[in-house]
Amino acid sequence: WLEMANNKYEYVKSFEPEDELMPLTWIVVRIDGHRFHRFCEVHEFEKPNDEQALNLMNSCAKSILEEFPDIVFAYGVSDEYSFILKKTTRLCQRHSSKILSLIVSYFTSAYVMKWREFFPQKELKYPPSFDGRVICYPSTAIVRDYLAWRQVDCHINNQYNTCYWMLVKSGKSKREAQDLLKGTQTQEKNEILLQHFSINYNTLPVMFRKGSSVFRDKVEDTVDSAERGDPVEMKVVIDHSDIIEETFWDKHQYILDE
Ligand code: ATP
Ligand code: ATP
Ligand code: MG
Ligand code: MG
Ligand code: MG
Repeated sequence: WLEMANNKYEYVKSFEPEDELMPLTWIVVRIDGHRFHRFCEVHEFEKPNDEQALNLMNSCAKSILEEFPDIVFAYGVSDEYSFILKKTTRLCQRHSSKILSLIVSYFTSAYVMKWREFFPQKELKYPPSFDGRVICYPSTAIVRDYLAWRQVDCHINNQYNTCYWMLVKSGKSKREAQDLLKGTQTQEKNEILLQHFSINYNTLPVMFRKGSSVFRDKVEDTVDSAERGDPVEMKVVIDHSDIIEETFWDKHQYILDE
């Protein structure tokens, strides 16, 4: 009887969409906090940048790289993180919805688990959630452009937000701050910061200006271990380099090696 029932109902499986991602392409998963504008208010994040909130995001990304060896690089800013899976990965048989749901749920539960570590004095008021999407990129050059796009976005948003919140904190209404900044260029924003608030934008913490990269790197080996010829140990690190320029990639060619 059970077997007959199985035959009868199994056809429902044919309704499942095929979602295998194209082979031998870089897979990028980008997750983003759902309605974090509100989440930041409810949890009283410091504006424009709550350092602990960023450290929590970075720590979750680090856990992901430690859990999934095929994720070779991650870049995060604000409430978002991008994860790059190597071209040859067979994770989840490259099924798009499985890869996406795995990464989003792992990140989200890590975020909740680690909350206390980063906010010992703050209660988590409601369950945070993240949305996510998957994109395949056929070449390393396009992955590099993708990362550059995110880091430029980080710069533009951070510069705007820094100005905006300095104006608001100095007594301007949110409306006035918005109107003042409308249509201003990079240079003008830097001048507002310098002249009104004596802030040199380039001296703000590098994590705010450049975002965070997470990847595997050689750990500083001691002279001893080098002399013994120990194999180089790779560890997941958090870094705030410029990832648009060649310098970083010259130094870490193995990351996007095909
Ligand atoms: P959506 O669900 O569409 O993503 P959202 O409210 O999350 O909506 P985003 O465009 O993702 O909108 O913007 C995230 C918001 O969270 C921004 O207002 C950003 O300033 C804020 N934010 C994220 N991280 C931090 C942080 N570490 N410190 C302060 N504010 C933050
Ligand atoms: P995959 O990652 O492929 O899903 P899996 O180990 O999760 O691998 P499933 O086919 O999803 O494999 O099976 C879930 C396993 O968890 C089964 O072994 C099932 O017996 C066990 N399991 C799930 N819920 C319970 C439960 N409430 N009590 C006891 N065992 C459970
Ligand atoms: Mg968001
Ligand atoms: Mg966002
Ligand atoms: Mg299962």
